[in-house]
Amino acid sequence: MIALQGISVSSGVAIGEALVIDYEGFRIPRRFLMRDAVDDELQRLSSAMEAVAEDIERNRVSIASQLGEKYGAIFAAHLQVLRDERLNNEIRHLVLERHYSPEYAVSRTLRRYAKVFLELDSAHHAERAQDIFDIERSLLYYLLGLRREELSHLTSPVVVLAHNLRPSETAKLNPEFVLGFATEIGGGLSHTAIVAKGLEIPAVVGMGEFLTDVSGGDLVIVDGDHGRIILQPDEETIARYRHEVEEHRTISARLDELAELPAQTQDGTLIRLAANIEFPHEVASCIQRGAEGIGLYRTEFLYLGASEEPTEEDHFQAYSQVVSAMKGHSVVIRTLDLGADKMGHKPLGEEEHNPFLGLRSIRLSLKNVTLFRTQLRAILRASALGQIELMFPLISTMVELRQAKSVLNDVMEDLAEEGIPFDADLKVGMMVEVPAAVMMIDRFLREVDFVSIGTNDLVQYTLAVDRDNKDVADLYQTVDPSVLRLIDATLKSAAEADVFVSVCGEISGQPAFAMLLLGMGVRALSVPPSLIPEIKKLCRSVSVPDCEAIYQCAMDMETAGEIKTYLHEELRKTVPELVPF
Ligand code: PEP
Ligand code: MG
Repeated sequence: MIALQGISVSSGVAIGEALVIDYEGFRIPRRFLMRDAVDDELQRLSSAMEAVAEDIERNRVSIASQLGEKYGAIFAAHLQVLRDERLNNEIRHLVLERHYSPEYAVSRTLRRYAKVFLELDSAHHAERAQDIFDIERSLLYYLLGLRREELSHLTSPVVVLAHNLRPSETAKLNPEFVLGFATEIGGGLSHTAIVAKGLEIPAVVGMGEFLTDVSGGDLVIVDGDHGRIILQPDEETIARYRHEVEEHRTISARLDELAELPAQTQDGTLIRLAANIEFPHEVASCIQRGAEGIGLYRTEFLYLGASEEPTEEDHFQAYSQVVSAMKGHSVVIRTLDLGADKMGHKPLGEEEHNPFLGLRSIRLSLKNVTLFRTQLRAILRASALGQIELMFPLISTMVELRQAKSVLNDVMEDLAEEGIPFDADLKVGMMVEVPAAVMMIDRFLREVDFVSIGTNDLVQYTLAVDRDNKDVADLYQTVDPSVLRLIDATLKSAAEADVFVSVCGEISGQPAFAMLLLGMGVRALSVPPSLIPEIKKLCRSVSVPDCEAIYQCAMDMETAGEIKTYLHEELRKTVPELVPF
């Protein structure tokens, strides 16, 4: 049994067979063969072995002629491994006797060999292990060839273990078959993490290298509550986690009973509790859990899940589905936040050195006005069907806000000329997610109907820490005092200007932090649908004066660490059932 620690991004526990996806996106499923297919499959294995041997020999000759025999010998060593009788017999035995597919037999055997080298713990032996992984990759390339399947086409439940999953790949995961996932890289606030929460799939990222320790079909546990994975768990551990799964079910059933009740604090203050969504189908769970509207609809996922650029009609269909389902509750549609880690099927700009500081979000929309107008037309058309509010992301300067509003006004004029109905009084807001927006907030507030604080980016840009990088994950601190001061300044200005403000970053969905927000004066929170019951429970368990006292204490502290510890202690005293397992 091996237990490994990463970063928890989506809670819950998944227990199941591993589906390993290596660097090149190969899936190595554990597939069994029909008895009468064994001969053909052995033949396929031999052909792949032969093809790989020919490739290696070609490389050997070419390198030897260019650089000399000494370099050619590297490939000769590969050839020796590939032709090793014992190794060949082991692979063939798994196919012949256990009826494993050749892909699985190859991967299992070669990974076992590589692991022996890795355990010797020397640079020289680590290189030999890499040689073996290389041979595995080459064989899989020939064996899987065109049969490389998409993750979206799974047919049995698995736990996905991958080097990385991009947000667009995560968006295509089917929660029916993907019980959970873990990745070697990635940060806690990445969009992959946010999608995992949206899909309610237990997930852990930023594990560091671990794929070499696991083979497809091994039993694994993803513990999304503690950011842990357990490879080849023993019976006792499996039993303990099965019990935890049951506990999760009981607690969430108890919390679901709150769906019909208001998010009202002990002293009678009403909190507006809305949901963040990425996909239209999520509205069902928002309604079921009693969300008071959609506080953030991340529309860029329409692009990330699609193979073709969405048309105006595609946008319109998605927005009308959401607004109709929400029956009179408001739906805040955020215009495209593409770029950085969220790219569609084709890049919309040049490759960038600093994508999070580059052509992302509103900047990208303003540089691709046709794309922007297409979306705005669809949003406006859908606004005739229900209560839509429109929000621009990542606004940093007044010029950007004015340009975005000017494109919106043009599109409104076009629709009016064409006689197409839309809500002419549509509320227009902006996200506050860069420090520049906070510094200028009094001016911005004169030109918008509402603001929503996006702490995921605000933290990243305030502390200069990439939200998507596991190596600086410990520096990404949501409750750093500097971030709290920026939130506080925004709230004070918004109260003075009498402009509605909500908080839609992930901070809102963490009970200990949400308690702090209530103390700061926040009265509208937007959280992933799965967290609505917990946050409602929090609101119903605390009083605003108590939260204010907690906030006063927290603001005297100077580090995120102190504040975090303090808030968790306070939460444990007030609502212990909301403290993570
Ligand atoms: C944020 O930055 O806090 C936010 C809500 O937007 P996103 O996570 O989509 O960048
Ligand atoms: Mg953001």
